[in-house]
Amino acid sequence: MVHGSKASPQDLPSIDKLLRLPSVQPLLTAHGHTLVAIQARVLLDSLRVQAVAGSLQLADIQAETLSISLALGIEERLAPRMRRVLNLTGTVIHTNLGRSVLPQAAIRHLTAMMEGPNNLEYDLVDGGRGDRDSIVEGLLCDITGAEAATVVNNNAAAVLLSIAALAGGREVIVSRGELVEIGGAFRMPDVMASAGAIMVEVGTTNRTHLADYERAINARTAMLMKVHTSNYAVEGFTSSVPESQLALLARERQVALVTDLGSGSLVDMGQLGLPQEPTPQQMLAAGCGVVTFSGDKLLGGPQAGLIVGERDLITKIRKFPMKRALRLSKLPLAALEATLTLYLQPELLTRDLPTLRWLTRTPEQVTATAQALLEPMSAALTPRYTVSLQSMSSQIGSGSLPVDRLPSAGLAISPVLAGKRGTGTALDHLATTLRGLPLPIIGRVADDSLLLDCRCLDDVTEVLAQLATLRERLA
Ligand SMILES: *Cc1c(COP(=O)(O)O)cnc(C)c1O
Repeated sequence: MVHGSKASPQDLPSIDKLLRLPSVQPLLTAHGHTLVAIQARVLLDSLRVQAVAGSLQLADIQAETLSISLALGIEERLAPRMRRVLNLTGTVIHTNLGRSVLPQAAIRHLTAMMEGPNNLEYDLVDGGRGDRDSIVEGLLCDITGAEAATVVNNNAAAVLLSIAALAGGREVIVSRGELVEIGGAFRMPDVMASAGAIMVEVGTTNRTHLADYERAINARTAMLMKVHTSNYAVEGFTSSVPESQLALLARERQVALVTDLGSGSLVDMGQLGLPQEPTPQQMLAAGCGVVTFSGDKLLGGPQAGLIVGERDLITKIRKFPMKRALRLSKLPLAALEATLTLYLQPELLTRDLPTLRWLTRTPEQVTATAQALLEPMSAALTPRYTVSLQSMSSQIGSGSLPVDRLPSAGLAISPVLAGKRGTGTALDHLATTLRGLPLPIIGRVADDSLLLDCRCLDDVTEVLAQLATLRERLA
């Protein structure tokens, strides 16, 4: 075997010489001197290491090769870390994949509002200062029946702010069955402490009664708190006090009743054929003073924390200094406005709001999508893997309705091997390759197969267009 001659460190050009190469000039024009010089140094450093190790060929440091390497380095450096992906995990509101996907109307409004200045806090009628809350307050009140509303960065902030504003330095009574932990270190006892409130636990893990709350109320009590047990289910011998009863008690004893709904769907999920989830409308009608919920769970909008309720309580929350630190930025606010506007046209939701469109897809519809992928995917993966159409279960995700499953369909991909040995490695290799595609495909591994649930796939061509690359990379 003939080897090309080795390059030694002295053969490497200087940075200046590299930057003067004619083939490097277009890079300087496109990106400016700073970045190109930094990447040139990175490239020469790595080539020097190879030269010292004796593994660098003279051919690797030809002008043409050097400028191609430099261009690749620059491209990699500028590639965004945040990437769009295809969520074929079967979890519709996937916390790790950015939760809800915005409706087109929200993307359009968001983009339009960011192209220039806007009236975020400006009253276009009288030319004076406006309040950013007023952009969505009317919509939220119309949809939920609340007297007033305000919005913050996320529901965790909504809960923290509500407790701090309404119960700072005083006692908050909460059932032991509702001391939830949401992923990412949001734990009710810690939130209470951060908000400067004194948490008073009542009842037991499985059963809490009205009398438990009644007995705990004293002169230091500011609030009764209900927390929706969104990401777990207490089953069996259980009892909790409905909001309507707590509301009577709260009114009689002159304390606030605040409910953290977590997801808080704005439409009756039951009417859409989905598992029932309490709505802010129901909580307010039951007499809750304040209800908080997320913008990017079942609501299907941007990350936001929505706070709706009685006017005097909302005013107190809005005026509390912490509100300034937690306020919603103009980007999600624009997206939220357009998303809420869709709720004025509820008939359009299952078509135009991706979260509800995907959740309400029938198994037959999902099967049709999977069917369209079956043959092309088989062709791309043969002979190492077999692909079959399979029924599977999707979940709603993001802590919503943790025990409910939606009948779904997708592809199950299994390695072709003599025995079970090597199955894990072969599946890992496939999953890694799928994640490495230009538009990464994220599935899930279960029962010695990689499952690609097609519930959230709107456009099969986004998969089909990548199959040639997939086939190449697996070879
Ligand atoms: C999800 C959730 C939260 C946190 O909401 P974010 O919008 O993620 O901040 C708080 N409480 C409950 C009950 C939840 O389900």
